Amino acid sequence: MTVALALFTRDLRVHDNPMLAAAASGADQVVPLFVLDEAILGSDYHRPNRAQFLAQSLADLDASLRERGAGLVVRRGRPVDEVTRLAADVGADVVHVSGDVSAHARRRQEALAKRLAADGRSLEVHGDTLFVVPPGDITPAGGDHMAVFTPYHRRWEKHPVRALAPTPRRLAMPRVTKGRVPPYADLCSGAPSPQVAEGGESRGRTLLTRWLSSGIPAYADTHDAVADDATSRLSPYLHFGCLSPLEIVRRAHEKPSQGAEDFVRQIAWRDFHAQVLAARPDATRNDYRPRGDRWHCSSEELAAWREGRTGYPIVDAGMRQLAREGWMHNRARLITAHFLCKTLYVDWRLGAAHFIDLLVDGDVANNTMNWQWCAGTGTDSRFNRTYNVTAQARRHDPRGAYVRRYVEELADVDEAYVHEPWLLPEDEFAALGYPEPIVDQDVARDRLRKGRAAG
Ligand SMILES: Cc1cc2nc3c(=O)[nH]c(=O)nc-3n(C[C@H](O)[C@H](O)[C@H](O)COP(=O)(O)OP(=O)(O)OC[C@H]3O[C@@H](n4cnc5c(N)ncnc54)[C@H](O)[C@@H]3O)c2cc1C
Repeated sequence: MTVALALFTRDLRVHDNPMLAAAASGADQVVPLFVLDEAILGSDYHRPNRAQFLAQSLADLDASLRERGAGLVVRRGRPVDEVTRLAADVGADVVHVSGDVSAHARRRQEALAKRLAADGRSLEVHGDTLFVVPPGDITPAGGDHMAVFTPYHRRWEKHPVRALAPTPRRLAMPRVTKGRVPPYADLCSGAPSPQVAEGGESRGRTLLTRWLSSGIPAYADTHDAVADDATSRLSPYLHFGCLSPLEIVRRAHEKPSQGAEDFVRQIAWRDFHAQVLAARPDATRNDYRPRGDRWHCSSEELAAWREGRTGYPIVDAGMRQLAREGWMHNRARLITAHFLCKTLYVDWRLGAAHFIDLLVDGDVANNTMNWQWCAGTGTDSRFNRTYNVTAQARRHDPRGAYVRRYVEELADVDEAYVHEPWLLPEDEFAALGYPEPIVDQDVARDRLRKGRAAG
């Protein structure tokens, strides 16, 4: 009787999961395992919104595994210790895990491979679970990663991909103490955002089916319209691996449209950032392309930005959406991040840390590399690009509906003034109780020019 251990990490699903499929087909019995990693639970990365989503996703995964005759074994501690101990207890020769890109995941993988080998067991890493095209599969001549998205995307579109992995129908599992699938209260003490997305593969698959049948065709025209909420909102399900990116791409291609094409291109951005981080793990802290910045450090301006009271309605709406939902529309992420780095000229690391505190899809590769892109220290070739936030607001929220939804002080303001309420008669503006702009954006933007010239 052979036994394999299926170590779940950021791949919390039973559909199209090559890691689980290989464990199921390669042995008579499978032990599905999730280890609550003490290092992550004690880190800045462990925050209520993602902890709640994780707890819900683990419960859903456990239910799916039970339907198939198994169930999720949960341990808490150092993954390398817990996995080697359990592998020895159940007599598993092979441990299967999905390959990931963060420095933490890669260290864990290397340490695990060594410890298992010392015990006469092996680790099988499945690099194609979390990405459509695994990091390292597309490289330039003489380099280890692609630094520009457009040529990467051209090759990504043509890159051969694997067949979808079969979903196990039955899983035989040896007798083992399962441990408790943790409720949220076991993971985290803070309160999650009031309207954060519900976790789990089942919920993700329902949203995906709905998105593919009714949302995707209009994506090409509406993905930047912040008030329409017309993007997929699949990002947290992709972050936790509740959905397979390859399955999403395949299903999106089944009904060709410009919307489907544009949507799939966004999924390629995810792979692009993963392969940058895999090659440059220090990019979570260090500028990918240093520009000699001498950041302007104003704790007051940073606090106003975080709390959504900069006096620029579109920025404040984005920041308040983040606080309320643990998620922000991509166009609003671009506007708020540009505003912090390019207008206030505050270090991108401070903005990225705030996003990681709240985003339910908060992801080391995508958050860091998008922040660096906005700051001009990343892969954007127009690194001094600046946005006029009021012009952005007029373009992407022409009627002010997005601002009115999230900034309650402006809920009843006429659309002619909603993006520039300071133009209202003085007494009417004062009666709103909404702040004046914390800086004149044209004057403030000069900080970037001077700061970069000095550096
Ligand atoms: C400053 C900043 C920080 C960000 N931080 C994160 C983060 O921590 N985690 C995260 O998943 N995304 C991040 N993004 C990218 C993007 O904003 C979100 O992926 C997107 O808003 C999620 O909403 P959606 O699922 O409706 O996206 P859709 O428009 O429906 O796109 C589909 C999928 O494509 C991927 N995607 C889309 N845009 C990007 C992008 N620019 N980079 C990488 N992948 C992308 C996501 O997985 C997304 O779910 C960030 C963007 C910015 C500008």
